[in-house]
Amino acid sequence: MSIYEKYEAVIGLEIHTQLSTKSKAYAADSTEFGILPNTNVSPISLGHPGTLPRSNKRVIEYAVRLGLAVKAEIREVNEYARKNYFYADLPKGYQITQDKTPICTGGYITIKQEDGTEKNINITRIHMEEDAGKSIHDIDPTDSLIDLNRAGVALLEIVSEPEIRSGEEAYKYLTEVRKLVRYLDICDGNMEEGSMRCDANVSVRLKGSKEFGNRTETKNMNSIRNVQRAIEYEVKRQIEAIENGEVISQDTRSFDAVAGTTFVMRSKEMANDYRYFPEPDLQPVIVTKEYIEQVKKVLPPLPQELHKKYMALGLSAYDAGVLTDTKEIALYFESIISKTKNVKSASNWLTVQVKSFLNDNALHISDFKVTAERMAQLVDLIDSGKVSHTIAVQKIFPKMLEELEKSPAQIAEENSWIQESDSNALSELAQQALAKFPDKVAEYKAGKESLLGLFMGEVMKLSKGKADPKMASELVKKLLEK
Ligand code: ADP
Ligand code: MG
Repeated sequence: MSIYEKYEAVIGLEIHTQLSTKSKAYAADSTEFGILPNTNVSPISLGHPGTLPRSNKRVIEYAVRLGLAVKAEIREVNEYARKNYFYADLPKGYQITQDKTPICTGGYITIKQEDGTEKNINITRIHMEEDAGKSIHDIDPTDSLIDLNRAGVALLEIVSEPEIRSGEEAYKYLTEVRKLVRYLDICDGNMEEGSMRCDANVSVRLKGSKEFGNRTETKNMNSIRNVQRAIEYEVKRQIEAIENGEVISQDTRSFDAVAGTTFVMRSKEMANDYRYFPEPDLQPVIVTKEYIEQVKKVLPPLPQELHKKYMALGLSAYDAGVLTDTKEIALYFESIISKTKNVKSASNWLTVQVKSFLNDNALHISDFKVTAERMAQLVDLIDSGKVSHTIAVQKIFPKMLEELEKSPAQIAEENSWIQESDSNALSELAQQALAKFPDKVAEYKAGKESLLGLFMGEVMKLSKGKADPKMASELVKKLLEK
């Protein structure tokens, strides 16, 4: 047994999601991204004396949405707290957050393991807080620059129980959280731009041990993949250190994406004491049962539920996964299957033809111009036997992308792509095909039945691909058996 197999990793994640509200958490300043630095600031977000914060109702609504989606318990009386620390990008000298009374407690996120089984990662708490400004160290050669546009933007912090056991599980957990906040329309989930950030708490212990080891907390990973890499590095480093007789120091570390390693940012001795105390400028927010019910009523369909629904409709887990990957794809699919009964065919069109068209052209589903209604018509047109699947893929679908106002049936008719299912016409073609290969007909009659394919190929050729294959093959067989 290698040293690595003796240990088990224990991982808990703290995720900060930046909420997509129009104004900040406790001030009316805009949250618009990418505008001139230090323009979205008011005396309130700068914490000038005499100013008073006011809580943004949307933040409560978003927190309730998320709480409902993860099946958390939602608190009625929500107090705010001050978390005090000094930093140049924190103009007030404190953050308004929640301490003892987080808006959500409990709940879970379900991840899928390789073997198809599911695992629930429990959530400890979700609380509301505000973001700090941004310090920029890499633009000016001598000075650090500060942009306070972000100061006061609303965040929800999602803290997990230490139940994640590998970098891969962390990857899946984060992917599910990101999918969920996007479905809920509360955060764009973009880790590259910092609107979703994750701190990874990592420790290791001997397998079978009940006690936790000393943990480190790693920050500054700008993608889900990098969270996985940072965790995998940390787990390996800690095991090797323990095997060397060292004690793990409870440090805050930073991830170096180029080297794939972590390094100490600050040690526990330098840990902050935030002196939390109740925020005196804000009344507690009351979240009533009625309010929660109102939010529940307008909750969008959630990825896990849709996934279950599609599996129940007979789709594979893989297809259900592709169809629920983003809310836009799922809603488009929902719209198609509200208009056609053939769910399997609708799924194939979306996961194969539409998806490869979007991939090839670097487009998003929201750029896809063909309406769900026309896709449903195409599915039904094939099912009616009027056009073959091949013609639909090769000819009709590409034309539908160009002629957006025409129905697939209209396109098929105008281009005479309607399948030949007139038995007289087909029988004529079948006779021509047999007449072309008298020797082969004799061979077939002598028992070489594999020649059927040759005759069928000829019929398809003569019909320019429009023959209904099922009908044609029946006619050819009948003629051969005469
Ligand atoms: P703090 O507020 O100091 O960051 P918390 O108790 O709130 O500490 O825990 C933060 C995160 O660390 C949680 O996600 C929790 O699950 C995780 N965690 C706590 N103890 C350990 C441990 N020994 N190993 C790994 N993760 C841990
Ligand atoms: Mg922490």
